Amino acid sequence: MTSNGDNRFRLDGEVALITGGGTGLGLAIARQMALAGAKVVLAGRRAAVLKEAAAAIGPQAGAVVCDVTRVKSAAGVVARAEALFGPISILVNNAGIHLKKPALETSDEDLLSVLKTHVLGAHALTRAVLPGMLRRRHGSILFVASMASLFGIPNVMAYATAKSAYLGMVRSLATEVSPSGVRVNAIAPGWIDTDMSRKATGNDPERKRRILARTPLGRFGEPDDVGTAAVFLCSPAARFVTGVVLPVDGGVSIGF
Ligand code: NDP
Repeated sequence: MTSNGDNRFRLDGEVALITGGGTGLGLAIARQMALAGAKVVLAGRRAAVLKEAAAAIGPQAGAVVCDVTRVKSAAGVVARAEALFGPISILVNNAGIHLKKPALETSDEDLLSVLKTHVLGAHALTRAVLPGMLRRRHGSILFVASMASLFGIPNVMAYATAKSAYLGMVRSLATEVSPSGVRVNAIAPGWIDTDMSRKATGNDPERKRRILARTPLGRFGEPDDVGTAAVFLCSPAARFVTGVVLPVDGGVSIGF
């Protein structure tokens, strides 16, 4: 319940499976969803990272080790997550890898690896959770897109291709499953201060200055800024919101 007594922003009774939930934005989404009352299952490849992250959140968090690129194991991942807290009602497709390379140096294998993590991984898990959500006529699927879904950014062709694919997935899927009570949305985070973004900006002070100059709110985002937006989109407060891509970017996408 919020301070004004409105519980539509709460996630009590929901069970969220969050890929890449052990670090960065995924962990912030998990933390905020847990604070809003959800049970959260963190998924990723490193058991120790997941264990530590789940312990920091508390007993309402669990962990499932998985590699989202192993698409054939998606149903098993969902089954292991559901064994912890019951049926998954929220899936957050957040796991990702960044690749900064000029297009001419991007090999087929590079492109395939990025597509496998973002696109095929998210597709397989979505397909695995959907039958239950449709049966129960209740669920929310959230994709973590990027500014690279919206703008041309140099040297990230493979990453931009994968993140742009999310826009098509969100819109097409939303039209297909929303009539059955399952909402599908995306967040497009701007420049948020995480290890991934620090690597992507190469700790280059001039690039950081240019990013901030283009950010109306004048700062890098914090992971929890994305976490709270994720809570809203998956909560009953957003029950009439589906098929959208919400920039959480300090105004970058509307700034000049
Ligand atoms: P992190 O590197 O901290 O998070 C990436 C997460 O994905 C890790 O927890 C990693 O865990 C997991 N992961 C990667 N590959 C796989 C895989 N094959 N199977 C399962 N899990 C995997 O970076 P961020 O938190 O910054 O990024 C999270 C998401 O947000 C990404 O999709 C990223 O593209 C997106 N994003 C980030 C922005 C930013 O400014 N930080 C801006 C826009 C988008 P493990 O290695 O243990 O598997």
